[in-house]
Amino acid sequence: MIPYGTQDIHEEDISSVIDTLRSPYLTQGPKIKQFEDAIAGYGGSRHAIACNSATSALHLACLALGLQTGDRLWTSPNSFVASANCGLYCGALVDFIDIELNHFNISPLALEEKLIWARENNQLPKILVAVHFAGEPCNMSKIHKLSKEYGFKVIEDASHAIGSTYKESKTGSCTYSDITIFSFHPVKIITSGEGGCALTNDPILADKMRLLQSHGITRDSEKITAPSEPWFYEQQDLGFNYRMTDIHASIGLSQLKRVDDYIKRRHFLADHYDEQLKSLPLILPKRTQETHSSLHLYPIQICNEQPTALRKELFIKLQEDGIGVNVHYIPIHYQPYYQAMGFSKGDYPNAEKYYSRTITIPLHPKLSENDVSFICDRLKHHLG
Ligand SMILES: *Cc1c(COP(=O)(O)O)cnc(C)c1O
Repeated sequence: MIPYGTQDIHEEDISSVIDTLRSPYLTQGPKIKQFEDAIAGYGGSRHAIACNSATSALHLACLALGLQTGDRLWTSPNSFVASANCGLYCGALVDFIDIELNHFNISPLALEEKLIWARENNQLPKILVAVHFAGEPCNMSKIHKLSKEYGFKVIEDASHAIGSTYKESKTGSCTYSDITIFSFHPVKIITSGEGGCALTNDPILADKMRLLQSHGITRDSEKITAPSEPWFYEQQDLGFNYRMTDIHASIGLSQLKRVDDYIKRRHFLADHYDEQLKSLPLILPKRTQETHSSLHLYPIQICNEQPTALRKELFIKLQEDGIGVNVHYIPIHYQPYYQAMGFSKGDYPNAEKYYSRTITIPLHPKLSENDVSFICDRLKHHLG
């Protein structure tokens, strides 16, 4: 089976792990700091906090930005559930902004319309989670402008998008946001096994996320409030154990060296797909001048009278061919947990239309040109 996405592990990743296993620290050791510095350096932010997942990092980001019971968090329905669940963890009300149909990210127009409505009705959001779907950055300058006008904070869920750029800025630099999140799950651009990271330029947000990441406990003698004994630590807030281990950090550190090569390879393979699929009745992913996508996914859309039926047929046939297809994403508001909160089918027509006809074909650095040709041949056969 050719997977739709998978890790690419080199010998140097393995020796990096072995070095850590032989060292005195399996967790809370020097590899974490090295990984955080390397990620901050790569993304172009002042601070990076490595976590055990992007989901944990999203939760910490919401907490650091002060999200509380009764506050509102808005995000894209075309995402993994974690982009919205982070709001629910904090007791906030979650709502969605429909996507635009050229890049499947939050529509700035729909966002502005909803903000106007929300201001009139006293229901403005505290946080917007902007998801860079498939590695393609959102329209961040517009989102940033609206955030200043309407007074909300911005978290970039860049789980798909390490290594992408928007205009002149690298995703991770937080040029247009308060906090940016990366994921290092094995299907993402680089991996640490499980893992994620929160990047920010704000030292107060960074301190807050660090405190909450480790039980709300500080050992910093300057921050301890009571007269300090040499063994003292203080719990100053209710935190979690969201720490990454040094074992995971050593994989991530080693993988990070290849991130740009990975993205180049993804573009190279996508060029092949573009060329070989252009005559089929499909809508292929578009790349733009304004951004450089990290191409986490290659989702194709079926354009015929009954795309949903054909998509299902194609999904099954491609699986039978040994091609690991997938669908990104079932709109979050379709999930029973969200339906029980009052969301209904029909609420976000563009995300729903997109979902009804999309299918993700394999794209990852281990895919060969032969694999791409085989996949294209099978698509031509099934759609021809
Ligand atoms: C993968 C993913 C997450 C969650 O990442 P984990 O590291 O698995 O917790 C969050 N948001 C999006 C958009 C993702 O694709």
